[in-house]
Amino acid sequence: MTETPPLRVAIVGAGPAGFFLTDKLLSATDRTVSVDLFERLPVPYGLVRFGVAPDHEKIKAVTRTFDKAATRTGFRFFGNVEIGSHVSVDELRQHYHAVAFTTGAQTDRQMGIPGENLAGSHAATEFVAWYNGHPDFRDRRFDLSAERVAVVGVGNVAVDVARILCKSAEELATTDMADHAIEALRASQVREVFLLGRRGPAQAAFTTPEVKELGELEQADAIVRPEEIALDPLSAAQMEREEDKSEHRKLEVLAELARREPTSKPRRLTIRFLVSPAELVDDGTGRVKAIRLQRNRLVEKNGAIVAESTGVAEEIPVGLVFRSVGYRGVAIPGLPFDERTGTVPNVGGRVVDPATGKPIPGLYVAGWIKRGPSGVIGTNKPDAAETADAILADAASGVLLDPPATSADLIATKVALRQPELVTWERWQKIAAAETAAGKAAGRPRAKLTTVPDLVAAATMPG
Ligand code: NAP
Repeated sequence: MTETPPLRVAIVGAGPAGFFLTDKLLSATDRTVSVDLFERLPVPYGLVRFGVAPDHEKIKAVTRTFDKAATRTGFRFFGNVEIGSHVSVDELRQHYHAVAFTTGAQTDRQMGIPGENLAGSHAATEFVAWYNGHPDFRDRRFDLSAERVAVVGVGNVAVDVARILCKSAEELATTDMADHAIEALRASQVREVFLLGRRGPAQAAFTTPEVKELGELEQADAIVRPEEIALDPLSAAQMEREEDKSEHRKLEVLAELARREPTSKPRRLTIRFLVSPAELVDDGTGRVKAIRLQRNRLVEKNGAIVAESTGVAEEIPVGLVFRSVGYRGVAIPGLPFDERTGTVPNVGGRVVDPATGKPIPGLYVAGWIKRGPSGVIGTNKPDAAETADAILADAASGVLLDPPATSADLIATKVALRQPELVTWERWQKIAAAETAAGKAAGRPRAKLTTVPDLVAAATMPG
């Protein structure tokens, strides 16, 4: 009897979705699977390394699950390999039964207001990538001599940015925040941070533990205006329908903050609601000097509660603005893309041709590039499981691609020739060990290497 050859899957993007997909595929019981996980950077974990806030170390424990997946039989890691430059999508299709993209949402959304591109106006996602030591962002500069900062949006990314701006360098120095960011934040003159929500507290995207943490900051008083958290009839009705206790608790947390008298902490974090950004004001030299806001009321439109301008404007003087209005997926050459949602059109993880609605054989997606930038890290587990099930079902019904038997060796040789600085899983272990050792002396979980040459040097260190 001839043995069925392993099902060979290429996964592009070693973030949470890529690892959950790897784990699910490699734990299949009715079919032997091998996974080659490709990653553009020399390091794995995606947003767990470059998105999760440095002072939220516990959330990063999920990497233990990822490391376990990497020890499963059939796993190979191809780090520092860029699809489109070291290997093409077409080549992947020739060498694997299935190719899954877990590339996330690599850019940010814009506010679409005048002045958005002035100096001092940045995407929050870039600030996050910078303080987390992402090699592509380590040379960014943020003018932390500004005393007042606006963060537009009230999602968890906005909360992360506001919290980090309100912490002292001493608090951050025990985390794995990139050294360059700790030093820049040590010199920070920021005294007041405004978190700006366009709708009301009942519609705020941040989650309850995150907003609670804002009330527990050592260095900053959290301020909420009672009149801005009073529920209008639409929000009151929304809360009456709301069964999630955590959403009710969120309003209690905000109400408790609104009752507080400010103490004399050195910084202030003001959480505002019902204000939309209308314009960033130029100081005459091309820098931001203020954010112009329009006050809103809530109205119902097509069944949703949306913000509508009251016609009343206000201006807050700020020297720095972070727009935190959501991430956005980037098109993958060779794959269809939905510009409106910033995702790859798919049905349950199977990439579909938008013209016919039919699956394109052998192509799959999981994570944010599949469903958009929503949910927490754990949300990617069931999401990836759905894609894994689709791949396994398609394998069983024989509708996958048909690579030659020698393709596993062929692709590995090709990639190694084209990228001599390939980071295998073994080499990543060397980077991880170097970072952990460097962090240990300072009581930090790790001291991150933040340039590709430094990462590659650690990966290829003899011994
Ligand atoms: P998000 O949760 O979608 O929040 C985006 C925010 O931007 C919302 O408050 C939204 O308001 C606002 N917004 C959008 N367009 C706007 C505009 N033109 N003007 C003003 N405000 C605008 O996105 P995110 O904060 O980037 O987070 C992405 C995902 O990662 C979320 O699922 C989040 O929970 C997750 N995450 C989790 C953690 C954690 O667990 N600690 C940390 C970071 C991120 P509307 O609601 O009115 O649209």
